[in-house]
Amino acid sequence: MDKPMKPVPRPAPESEPYWKAAHEHRLEIPQCDDCSHHWFPPSRTCPNCLSPNMHWQQVSGRGKVFSFVIYDRVYHPAFAEDVPYVVALIELEEGPRLISNVVGIPPDDVRCEMPVEVFFDDVTETASVPKFRPR
Ligand SMILES: [Zn+2]
Repeated sequence: MDKPMKPVPRPAPESEPYWKAAHEHRLEIPQCDDCSHHWFPPSRTCPNCLSPNMHWQQVSGRGKVFSFVIYDRVYHPAFAEDVPYVVALIELEEGPRLISNVVGIPPDDVRCEMPVEVFFDDVTETASVPKFRPR
């Protein structure tokens, strides 16, 4: 039997630039042209001032663990070899928070406020997933 495949990103129109940049190993998030606010997840208008004028801005990729959980149970067969693993809410230096994994450290050693940095996991030839490790 074939090994089960992990789900791969399926970009929506609003998030397509995010996934394209990730595939090129850059972390980009929306930034407002009118008030400079950064936000995530992507949307067509600035959540701070409701301006429709925005661009995609490369960000540092540095942040900290805002919150996290350790998955001990296998919810999808493709993740059987990964448990236990960490799903975390990462707060970027630029402010927005995004959900990702923290790897490169035993799950029990992950702490809130821990400084982390992004790296890109090339999960297929056409898709890369931003993940985080301690810095
Ligand atoms: Zn704005």
